[in-house]
Amino acid sequence: MPLTLTSLGCASALPTKENYFTAHVLYIRGRSFLLDCGEGTQLRLKQLGISPSAVERIFITHLHADHVLGLPGMLSSMHLLERKKPLYVYAPQGLEKLLSFYFDFLGREDSSFPIIHEIVEGEGVFPIYEGETATVFAFPMNHSIPSYGYLFREKPVRKSKPRSVAYCTDTAPFPELPGWVAGVDLLFHEATYLEEDREAAVKYKHSTARQAAQTAKDAGAGKLLLGHFSSRYKENRAFLEEARPVFQNTELSLEGSTFTVPRQFTNDY
Ligand SMILES: [Zn+2]
Ligand SMILES: [Zn+2]
Repeated sequence: MPLTLTSLGCASALPTKENYFTAHVLYIRGRSFLLDCGEGTQLRLKQLGISPSAVERIFITHLHADHVLGLPGMLSSMHLLERKKPLYVYAPQGLEKLLSFYFDFLGREDSSFPIIHEIVEGEGVFPIYEGETATVFAFPMNHSIPSYGYLFREKPVRKSKPRSVAYCTDTAPFPELPGWVAGVDLLFHEATYLEEDREAAVKYKHSTARQAAQTAKDAGAGKLLLGHFSSRYKENRAFLEEARPVFQNTELSLEGSTFTVPRQFTNDY
């Protein structure tokens, strides 16, 4: 019963030759969830052999271009592929403007499938979806516009400890976050900057690699994945070198990488 997180990109506001915009596919026991949808997301899915039709639900963190501009193209492809099952898109208020661009400007009022915008809004950690395989929670980030992190908790299965994955981008560090994702098995956390550019991180409400590592440490996370790197850095490796002294089990969420959360067996029945 695999649980994996696949990176479709790790760039932030500007893509580079190597890095596409930050987006991920979370696969939990036969269900695929897309996390963010910047430009190029559907191409990355294609390159990795993941059909857009397999995507059940999309979780958008916030309405900055690098997280959402791929959506109209992706919806259009789903329509051309004659998708029938409804698509649920979780996103903060405002997405309806992008959806009306899709329906009105692109003339897709004949969409082959229903698109349901579930507005994400609230304080603290609050549930937004309960499915067969996972319960999903949202919580506010600390960014320049309303932004939400997502926490996926696997539904209990016999003889297994339920696994969990948290997705935190874009955000500056804030005191409540480690408690909200405490004990998570896999934490994706943005690291737009390195410590040498801490000023920019403060100004644009992002995190440095060291701050992300501190959050992972304080949360007691199992593993930390870093992404959403600023295009100002030519070498992604520096993020790892900055984070690991604080939180050893850190990896870079480079495009095409898949991270597995292994099953942990218990004696419970
Ligand atoms: Zn961003
Ligand atoms: Zn942003």
